[in-house]
Amino acid sequence: MTNAPADAAARRAVPPVICYPNDTLPVPDLALYAAARASTTKVSEVLVPAREAACFRAEAGQFFRITSVDGPQVGDLNLWNAHDLTERFYSGKTRALHGTHVTTGERLWSSFPHLRPMATITGDSLGWYGIDAFGGSVHDVIGTRCDPYTGNLLSGVQYHHCCHSNLTRALADELGVALAEAEPHIHDVLNVFMCTGFTRDTGQYFMKASPVRPGDYLEFFAEIDILGCLSACPGGDCSSEHTSDTAACYPMLVEVFAPAPGTLNSWQSPARNGYNGSHGR
Ligand SMILES: [Zn+2]
Repeated sequence: MTNAPADAAARRAVPPVICYPNDTLPVPDLALYAAARASTTKVSEVLVPAREAACFRAEAGQFFRITSVDGPQVGDLNLWNAHDLTERFYSGKTRALHGTHVTTGERLWSSFPHLRPMATITGDSLGWYGIDAFGGSVHDVIGTRCDPYTGNLLSGVQYHHCCHSNLTRALADELGVALAEAEPHIHDVLNVFMCTGFTRDTGQYFMKASPVRPGDYLEFFAEIDILGCLSACPGGDCSSEHTSDTAACYPMLVEVFAPAPGTLNSWQSPARNGYNGSHGR
């Protein structure tokens, strides 16, 4: 223990400032997206089996919707530029820009040197949840993804249906490559429907039973051509544990919708970040 200085209370009382004020971020035209969405037809769908993952593709200008079916279930989402897998979802920067959890109007940003919106959230049936009395909320960008390495570290187990492994197998199958080639592309996720936060007393990452019910959805507008992969987490609703087959698990539905021609004429897919990349040399 360290001894508190005489002015400890005053130092603690300094009010916080937002690290990244986001009022200069480009604003998505949600009214345009809503008008385009009203014209859509479904072009594809995939049912992600429980404790497995599945890939899907959405072209720039299309919408993709993730829906809870059969029972409460959390999903771990990875996104890549469909033409360049080195550009992928950057959960840490998305968290820095928008906060620990995301909802309608917020965006999923891509890795450096691209740093552009890959997808914009256009619908969230759990938007009513807000932040609960424990500091918990839904759709987090603070967790990583459940994985067999942490499971082995903490419990000595060999478990093969963590989201990390599910995503690895599904991406390998989608690309027609070996698991070892696919695995390095798996990255920290958007935890769709997962209810999480940090404990106030110890600052530890917590989860609690997701409020998601069948029919709830999270919907996105694809800002660039997307290859996505969704894992139906072995934690189920993440009320108790993961990294095991103990929890009740359910499939998840991913649907892709295309708008009618002409409905997005005033929209352009975002260019990669404008920094010149010289790093001062
Ligand atoms: Zn998981």
